[in-house]
Amino acid sequence: MSSRKPVNATRMRSFSGKAKLGQNFLRDPSAARRIVDGLGDLSQSTVLEIGPGRGALTSLLAERAEKLIAVEIDEVLARNLQLDFAERKNVEIRRANILQVSIAELTGSSAGRIKVVGNIPYYITSDILLHLFAQHQHIDLIVIMVQKEVAERLTAQPGTREYGLLTVTARLFADIEDLFTLAPAAFSPPPQVYSSVLRLRISPKSGELNVDVQQFLAFCKLAFAHKRKTLFNNLRRNYPESEIRKTLQSLRLRQDIRAEALRIEQLASIHASLS
Ligand code: SAM
Repeated sequence: MSSRKPVNATRMRSFSGKAKLGQNFLRDPSAARRIVDGLGDLSQSTVLEIGPGRGALTSLLAERAEKLIAVEIDEVLARNLQLDFAERKNVEIRRANILQVSIAELTGSSAGRIKVVGNIPYYITSDILLHLFAQHQHIDLIVIMVQKEVAERLTAQPGTREYGLLTVTARLFADIEDLFTLAPAAFSPPPQVYSSVLRLRISPKSGELNVDVQQFLAFCKLAFAHKRKTLFNNLRRNYPESEIRKTLQSLRLRQDIRAEALRIEQLASIHASLS
């Protein structure tokens, strides 16, 4: 790392990752480069890094981004990074819980739409994604590492086992690409799972689907509530049975169809018809 300062007397080092904070540090430099490459040209971008840890991505980002803000919850790791990057004027290290961070407050109004990157702690993947989607108007692009199985759910097609509420929620806000997969050996300590790097281009669909985001997500939650139940049985908790039957018939859908078989456009049509 070109900007790394010599080890400081006040510096502290935590040698083993804290499992409860999802601390599996990337130790494969070519993977780090490919993740940062996934963000494209950063020369005019503000980048938010989630969970910089020991800085595997941070040093590359610091070299390429116009402005980098890295949010790390671990006090020791945050302090070490503050020392490492003290002389980098374009880098700010914040000690905070990403789930409590407001992007607008963090970046200020002049930042425009930012890029987000992170080898994130897997135990809060969904929470982080929902937190970012709730602030999607401030984001252009997200490149994140997730557990391979979660990547499969996020990129799943209707009618597959992986397709569900998470897929539809993500699709409402973004177009998603699976960039590449990493084996446990790319990390220290190695996790017990494979990891995939995803790129999410923020592209909200609520306008073209003509839905209110909160109402539509509440509807989808109900539609996908019980995987083994048909859509009809899930929806009848909130809607009159006769209306559900009429809606399915008018959309030429089978009465025993499951939510897992429906594209987001079809779910939006059912929602519109029942509302
Ligand atoms: N980015 C580094 C790398 O690639 O080696 C570290 C990745 S490690 C999988 C996840 C990092 O996220 C850890 O440094 C952990 O302390 C941090 N972290 C965990 N929960 C967090 C939270 N709620 N907010 C911010 N950082 C968090």
